[in-house]
Parts: sequence; structure tokens; C-alpha cells
Amino acid sequence: MIVPVEVHRARAVERLVEGIATSDGAGVKLTRVLSGALQRRLDPFLMLDVFGSDDPQDYLAGFPDHPHRGFETVTYLLTGRMRHRDSAGHEGLIENGGVQWMTAGRGVIHSELPEQEHGVMEGFQLWLNLPARNKMTAPWYRDFGSAEIPEYVLDGGTRARVIAGTSNGVAGAVTRSITEPLFLDVLLPAGGSFSSDLPAAHNAFVYVVRGAVSVAGMTVPARRMAILENAPDADGVALAAAEDSRAILVAGRPLAEPIVQHGPFVMNTQEEIRQALEDYRDGRLA
Ligand code: MN
Repeated sequence: MIVPVEVHRARAVERLVEGIATSDGAGVKLTRVLSGALQRRLDPFLMLDVFGSDDPQDYLAGFPDHPHRGFETVTYLLTGRMRHRDSAGHEGLIENGGVQWMTAGRGVIHSELPEQEHGVMEGFQLWLNLPARNKMTAPWYRDFGSAEIPEYVLDGGTRARVIAGTSNGVAGAVTRSITEPLFLDVLLPAGGSFSSDLPAAHNAFVYVVRGAVSVAGMTVPARRMAILENAPDADGVALAAAEDSRAILVAGRPLAEPIVQHGPFVMNTQEEIRQALEDYRDGRLA
């Protein structure tokens, strides 16, 4: 049991986002909650996809071989099994609470394929931008089993799993120095609460997986993202739940650099995108 850092002024909700039902890969049904114009508002995060279904037709096809350049992908699987293979020689299986962190850097070609033929597949993929000077870094990959994700419990029974960053003094599985991403999975029992310190300038959002979560007094229902305001005097986040609830909290320091995306490539200029397409076409990307 740990005592949370005292929050004097908690972040309020700026707006709620529902996301757009779509499909990607070879036909995986998902909800794209963060994309397009929100990339600027939620810099350094480029995308959040939420998938969750007990119908194998919604996920079986998976994401066969495809390229990436210029950012990192973080896949967090709440339920299910997914196999990763990439052109840098990395392979891993993530399942039931595990995380896969991949730095595409200068380029990888990878596949992400379900390793289950029935049952529930539920999870997230978050894209974290790389600073301009690191976009062409060497690819990196690591997966973390559920037991390798640091956790802490607050008085009242709320459990926080720290996938990235540091919350209430607990360091997560991954840290990144420039964008300082924070990625928490917060499980609140009925009547439970949660608070964490968070720098005012970091962009932040909460996505409610199940139940309903009160964010500084505003109730956010399940399957909604709440973008949190950046008030200069706000020093943290405060959540509460009247019913058994689960939410992810994601935050990071904005890069404030140009964002140019073309599908799976995210660079700073059109010329760099043209180069990525050419490198991929000519077999030089990975
Ligand atoms: Mn991918």
C-alpha cells in the first residue's frame, strides 16, 4: 500500500471523444480514438486504437507484414494472445496483461497476429512519436509479461499498473527521457479513488475501459476518452469510481515539432515521407 502524492489542483476534463469505428490490418475491427487533428492536441501521442471483441471474425485476420518508420508502438493486451515478428529479428508473444514496446526508428517490417481462434481479444495500441533527432534510430523491441509490469495499490483498493513513466514514485516497465510518457492502467473498485502527480505542461488523457470514472468531478462513461486540460496550476490527476471501473491514463511532454504522417510512416517533412516510401519500395527500409 502506498500513499499517493498530494494533488492540490486536479486536471479537469476539456472534452470527451468517442472515436471512430474502423478496421485496419487485414480486417481487424477497432475504434480509433486518437488520430488526425488530435495528434497536435495530444502531442507526443499519434494514435490510440482500441480493440475488443469476442467474435473471432473481428480479429482473426490480424495485421500481416507492414512497415513503420519514425515512432514507437505500444501494444497492451488486456485479454488475448498476439504474436509479433519483425525484420530486426525480434519475436514475442504477448497475452493477458502483457505489453509489447517496439521502437520502429529508421524502419521495421512486422506482423502482429492473433494466436487464438476464439474467445475475447481486448486491448490497445498507442503510437508514441519520436523526436526528430531520434526518428532514424535503430529499431528496438521488448515484450513484458503481465507479471513484469510494476503495480501499486492505494488505500481503498485501487490498483495501478505502471506500463511507462513514474507515478507516485513507482517506476514503470519503460521510461523515455525526452517525452517522459506515462501509461497507467487503473483498476478502481466501487467507491475507490486514485490520484497521481503529473506535470502541468504534459498532454494527458483518460480512456475508460469499463464502468464509469469521475475525473475531477465529471463522470466519463465507458468507451470514451477524456482529454484533460493543461491548466498551468494543475499538479495532478484525480479519479474516482462509484462502480467497479477500469481506465487507462496516458500523458507525455509535447515535442512541438512538425508532424507529417503517411499511413505507417510519421516524419517531420514531406521529403522525409517521400524518402520513407522510396526506401520501402526499394527494400532499404528494413
Ligand atoms: Mn504495426
